[in-house]
Amino acid sequence: MALVGVIGGGQLGRMLGLAGIPLGLQFRFLDPSPDAPAASVGELVIGRYDDDRLLRRLADGADVVTYEFENVPAAAAASVGAVPGARALELTQDRLVEKRLFRRLGIPTAEFELPALPALAKARRLGYDGKGQRVIQSLEQLGDDELAEELVDFRRELSLLAVRSTSGETRFYPVVENVHRDGILRVSRTPAEHAPEEEAQEYATRLLDELGYAGVLALELFESRDGSLLANEVAPRVHNTGHWTIEGARTSQFENHLRAILGLPLGSTDSQPATMVNLIGSVPPLERLLAIPGAHVHLYDKQPRPGRKLGHVTLVGDAVARSEELEAFV
Ligand code: AMP
Repeated sequence: MALVGVIGGGQLGRMLGLAGIPLGLQFRFLDPSPDAPAASVGELVIGRYDDDRLLRRLADGADVVTYEFENVPAAAAASVGAVPGARALELTQDRLVEKRLFRRLGIPTAEFELPALPALAKARRLGYDGKGQRVIQSLEQLGDDELAEELVDFRRELSLLAVRSTSGETRFYPVVENVHRDGILRVSRTPAEHAPEEEAQEYATRLLDELGYAGVLALELFESRDGSLLANEVAPRVHNTGHWTIEGARTSQFENHLRAILGLPLGSTDSQPATMVNLIGSVPPLERLLAIPGAHVHLYDKQPRPGRKLGHVTLVGDAVARSEELEAFV
């Protein structure tokens, strides 16, 4: 039986485990929290991501080590030969380095060297879900560890999930349309109408090539009013905007990530229409969620806290018609 080590034991680790168990895979997670959501699907090593002794314990006997969280120190990922590689972390965990990478690869982004004012200040590191963001009126208000970015008046937010295996086989899921509130993802819908599939796939391919990548990679995009695409962020991991693939695609992003990093054949990404709604801050009673016909409920076993992602619900195929009923919960 193959053993997969995962740096991070949050809900993404939990869903990797849930996808890998039917394939006969076993899991070991490294996470600072004894209550990590992944604890119920594998062995949990409790401690810091950069503790050498614990990293060795995580990797001991593992066929592959991966991460489910991009703020893992790159040196820690390198020390255990994680897949995707440490380079993918280095280039994506600092937003300024990431934007320069987009630019070098000819992938359009919102202006960030000389943005029009007012602009959006973002923390270069450790910012997620809109945390560490604020509007500034002058570049003098910018901190050393921040970058300023043009405020984009976008038509919609999109994302593309790509997967490439260690053998080079590559597949894409259909483009997803995403709705955020307070910087946090609330709803993902696929397929996005008139989606720029080819352009998004071209940009993702440039990133996969540049990073020498294996695994699932998520590219977040803004579609501006004139239809042009601007890259916002890239995540070197499975992604919240791909949770719908669990029921909506022939092979979920989690299973394909595992296949990819283990050098196994990738599964089909053929998909049906799907809507995924995040449960944020609180979870409605299970009986109310399950009363919606076709609702697939996923709870992460996390303590409720404002702004915290506690679960998600997915509707696929004909059940997508029930989306409004479901969205009324969030
Ligand atoms: P991020 O942390 O960069 O993913 O940003 C979180 C959310 O803030 C995005 O999904 C957008 O809804 C919004 N946002 C980020 N950057 C910009 C921007 N330059 N202009 C307008 N909205 C933005």
